[in-house]
Amino acid sequence: MLSARSRATLPRPDHFRGDFLTSAVARRGASRASGPFEMLPLAVARPWDTEDVVSLVRWATAAGHALVPRGAGTGMPGGNVGPHVILEVGAFQDIGEVRGDTVTVGSGVTGATVDEVAGNALTLPALPSSALRCTIGGMVANNAAGARSYGYGSIRAWVEAAEVVTAEGRVMWLERGGGPGPWRRLLAELRSGWARAEATWPAVRKNSSGYALGHFLDTTDALDLIVGSEGTLGVVTRVRLRLAPRPDSRHVSLVPVPSQEALPGVVASLSGPGVAACEFLGERYLALSGLLDHPTYADALRGGGAAVLLEVDDRHGTLETDVARVRDVATQLGVRVLSASGGEAARLWQIRHVASPVIAARTPPGHVSMQFVEDSVVPPHALARYLRGLENILFEEETDAVMFGHAGDGNVHVNPMIDVRHPKWKECVGRILHRTAVLVSGLGGTLSGEHGDGRIRTPLNPMIWEPEVMQMFKTVKATLDPSGILNPGVIVPVKGQDPLAGLTALGGLG
Ligand SMILES: Cc1cc2nc3c(=O)[nH]c(=O)nc-3n(C[C@H](O)[C@H](O)[C@H](O)COP(=O)(O)OP(=O)(O)OC[C@H]3O[C@@H](n4cnc5c(N)ncnc54)[C@H](O)[C@@H]3O)c2cc1C
Repeated sequence: MLSARSRATLPRPDHFRGDFLTSAVARRGASRASGPFEMLPLAVARPWDTEDVVSLVRWATAAGHALVPRGAGTGMPGGNVGPHVILEVGAFQDIGEVRGDTVTVGSGVTGATVDEVAGNALTLPALPSSALRCTIGGMVANNAAGARSYGYGSIRAWVEAAEVVTAEGRVMWLERGGGPGPWRRLLAELRSGWARAEATWPAVRKNSSGYALGHFLDTTDALDLIVGSEGTLGVVTRVRLRLAPRPDSRHVSLVPVPSQEALPGVVASLSGPGVAACEFLGERYLALSGLLDHPTYADALRGGGAAVLLEVDDRHGTLETDVARVRDVATQLGVRVLSASGGEAARLWQIRHVASPVIAARTPPGHVSMQFVEDSVVPPHALARYLRGLENILFEEETDAVMFGHAGDGNVHVNPMIDVRHPKWKECVGRILHRTAVLVSGLGGTLSGEHGDGRIRTPLNPMIWEPEVMQMFKTVKATLDPSGILNPGVIVPVKGQDPLAGLTALGGLG
């Protein structure tokens, strides 16, 4: 357990009206989040409003203290903890009226609340599984995605505008089509090196690693630099989101796949205009979850190497042909497909939604299901090679693991079960982490499809991104946060940064 007496108490920042907590209880309470890290902050600041964030940012610059913006703390890779001042946006709860197909909300509002406010005709389609807890600010900061991002894109596609407090304490309203604003010169500088960088850019369907240089150069909107910047370039206080029409009909199928090797081929055959989600459950998950003994699923799933959960909807008027294609694929594979529409579909979705709690409940005593290689993404055609490579690494490291994720996007969630009773468990974690990074780099992927780099993946970024791209990331950081007060050690590594700093045998808070 961390000692909360390790540092002198910070004085309250001038002009700041919100809570500024320095008690041992408050600091310890903010020292952990959903990832497996524990870092004692100097203080916890809870601004009341945007003006308060400005005061805090100015104070931090003058006093030389870094800030770690935080929403609900459900982020996995440790970008939401740190030995700095935690800046919680929980008070930013205002919810505007839905106007046309947009709604503007405070950054502390949860994703699920926005989807509820959207009403029966509209929806926010980029909802993470954690939507009941995670905030819109955290989703924008991580460029979060969800099961339906296969068909609808990550949150980037749905962010229309954001109010951001910059590292210099300026309040900016950044809009789609608003251009680069004060970062015009940065845009030109990045453009001059882009041809080489673009040639090495990972060909993945979704990405939450590094800064989104391609999107920034493509749209020229400063907003695109902020989305996915993990609290390192600005504090998001308000967001205007675009909503999608809520489909009238959805059809869900559970398709057994003979082997993990067959996954990319099956995913390609299943793809079609109306596919919203294309998820997979690995063999170990099927066994561990008890599905193979379940009266409803056992017959269909036994003998399978994995299962694909596919949702198609009627947004393009192709529901019937999309469903027919699923049946054809099943016939070719010689498997029985379980299908459902309407309320029944939720029952099939439960199989996927309960993944995290099921794994946590079935983790053997003395072991921790630890998320540290939980979000790599590879080009979809490389999915089977990635899974095979992972299995080799885990076998050689004598570590059991459960895999599931977003098959259509090549984004795999891996939960290694670490025996934390072993005196060298951290070395084992370090080896798996490094070997996975080598594997992902060789397959042309990145270490994060939706959760972000955080503190654990940031030091590994030079293994993934070419030196000229890393230099461009540094240029972005130095331009937007010249004093380095916003979440240092995330996306751009700081000197000597240890990826395993703060890793705790307690695991994450879930
Ligand atoms: C059970 C479970 C399931 C999950 N499923 C998914 C999933 O399906 N898809 C997915 O994408 N993620 C998923 N996640 C990860 C996580 O929920 C998302 O990344 C989410 O977007 C984080 O939001 P948050 O409010 O908890 O942010 P936090 O964890 O508090 O912060 C995450 C990062 O965002 C930054 N940040 C937070 N708020 C702001 C702000 N207002 N301004 C600037 N920076 C900010 C932080 O500094 C940090 O770097 C899951 C997590 C759990 C525990």
